[in-house]
Amino acid sequence: DLAGIAAPVVVAIAVSGGAGISHAAGRPEGLFAHDSQITKSPMRALTLAALAPRAGELLWDVGGGSGSVSVEWCLAAPQAQSIAIEPRESRCENITENARRFGLAGRMRCVHGTAPDALADLPLPAAVFLGGGATEDVLQAIWDRITPGTRLVANAVALETQALLIRWHGMHGGQLLRIDLAQAAPLGTMQGWQPSRPQLQWSVTR
Ligand code: SAH
Repeated sequence: DLAGIAAPVVVAIAVSGGAGISHAAGRPEGLFAHDSQITKSPMRALTLAALAPRAGELLWDVGGGSGSVSVEWCLAAPQAQSIAIEPRESRCENITENARRFGLAGRMRCVHGTAPDALADLPLPAAVFLGGGATEDVLQAIWDRITPGTRLVANAVALETQALLIRWHGMHGGQLLRIDLAQAAPLGTMQGWQPSRPQLQWSVTR
């Protein structure tokens, strides 16, 4: 049936040429409802690569913020799901709005609360993302709760949090990545590098 074979090709051509949303993680911040507390696009791409989503897996997005990591987790693999944990009500609303915007209302949700308490009754995940505000207590509670084989990725910008991740990397191994990004921006009549604060990303399998 030639028509049946040809139809998808026509559709593919019709949506090419830069239209629609990229299939790759690290989508522009402008696509998401957020209040500036959002993991920036290049950092998010690296984070998704480290989280390594597979079909049907559940993520805990601890400190969900806008839920951008949850959205990209869900978009990355068929039937992937995410629970974002976020104490600020307005951010929980952004998470819900972003889920709706990307057609993921059935696959991701916001739990309004603070880790570690809010994690107590959640179904166990395949991966956990700790997007900021990692403390010894939160890390320990997550570590005690997750089962062997669970992947954990934590990002840190504050020295104190980076020190924590360095210590946990020393105890448990995994990969420790330092990410120094800079973007060209206007500098008088010319352009110069606008550096971002260095971030540490610790990735480990329990
Ligand atoms: N990855 C997010 C940005 C995270 S900003 C995004 O892309 O949008 C870090 C978030 O962690 C903030 O929204 C803050 O409210 C939340 N947070 C801080 N401490 C927390 C805790 N103990 N439990 C859950 N969330 C926390």
